[in-house]
Order: sequence, then structure tokens, then C-alpha cells
Amino acid sequence: MKKIHDGAVSFRRKDFEAHKSLFGDLSKTQKPHSVFIGCSDSRLVPSLITSTLPGELFIIRSVANIIPPYKKGVNYPAISAAIEYAILALEITNIIVCGHSNCGGCGALYKSEEQMKGLPHTNLWLELSRPVKNKVMQMIPNATEAEREWMTEQMNVVQQISHLLTYPYVLERYNNNKLTIYGWYYVIETGEIYNYDVDKGYFELIDDPQ
Ligand SMILES: [Zn+2]
Repeated sequence: MKKIHDGAVSFRRKDFEAHKSLFGDLSKTQKPHSVFIGCSDSRLVPSLITSTLPGELFIIRSVANIIPPYKKGVNYPAISAAIEYAILALEITNIIVCGHSNCGGCGALYKSEEQMKGLPHTNLWLELSRPVKNKVMQMIPNATEAEREWMTEQMNVVQQISHLLTYPYVLERYNNNKLTIYGWYYVIETGEIYNYDVDKGYFELIDDPQ
């Protein structure tokens, strides 16, 4: 914890001072331009990999960047509440769903009930991505573990976009071209981010225009 305490002091003295006017502007209001929905993994740092400052991204995180399909009457709809607030209250018009390499949540889809016995809530949550595992097993039944891993992580992003489109206000804005949805895949060891091309059906490296 000492590292974090020292970091809090260092932030106030250095980074805060360097961006003092920005924090002043942000003190009473936020107007983020994008919603970033990413995995809770410690290695995925949204502001770092997008070179954005405080106030730019409305960040929603969950295990394996899973978005539950729209459903009324859920007791504690944390992810749905955050999406609702971002789109209806803050009127944000871009959503990024970002998966990543070596995702423990995606990997856990392939573990047995016995192996997941000690993590009942995680196991229940991962039920939402079970169709991804089934699709991958059908598409590449003889794949290596590495191939299965990246295919699962990428297809999971596509699956979560389909869940996002079950939210009526998201679908309506998306169909009326008032909301853009991106599917991203971040590779930890190279720093590369791939964007899902809906028309081509695969992920392409985000790079400078040729
Ligand atoms: Zn993950």
C-alpha cells in the first residue's frame, strides 16, 4: 500500500499541478466524448492506450468486458445503469467495447464446473459469454490453445456488441446514425489495438491512414 500512498501524494504534487486548469474546468461538469467498456484486467488501462485525459472517457469495466443483455427488473444492474447514464444522461455518441489478449475471464470459459467451484459469481457472470465458447469450438475445433484464445477474445467482443444492441435506446440511436459502436482488441505484449470491421467480419490494426 505504501506505493499507492506515495503515488497519491506524487499525483497531487506533480500530475495534478501540471493539469490544474483542466481539473478546474472539470470540477463541476463532465462531457466525455466516448464510453469505454473494457475488462477489469489490471493490464488494460483505457486512458493510457487511447492517450486521453480525465473527462474524455466514461469508463465501464467488468470481468471479460461482458455486457449483460437488456433486461428490466434486475436487482442491481450495475453495467446497465452505467450504459443508461452514459447514453441517456450524458448523451455520449461513441461506444468502444474493448477486449484484450490473455484474458483470464475468456480463458475461464474453458474451465470445468469443478475448476470454477470456488468462484460461483464469476462462473455465473461468464454464462453470458458461453455462446462464444460454443461458436469457437464449432468454427475451429482443432485449433491450438493460442488460436482458440485469441479467437475467443475477439468473438467475445462481437458478442458483447450484440448484447449492447438489445438496449432499445442504443439500438434506436445506432440505427439512426446517432451512435457509433466500435469493437476493439488490445494486444498487451505489442501495444497494438485492432478494430472490428463489421463489413469484413474481422479485426484490423488501427494505424495511420496509408
Ligand atoms: Zn480480461
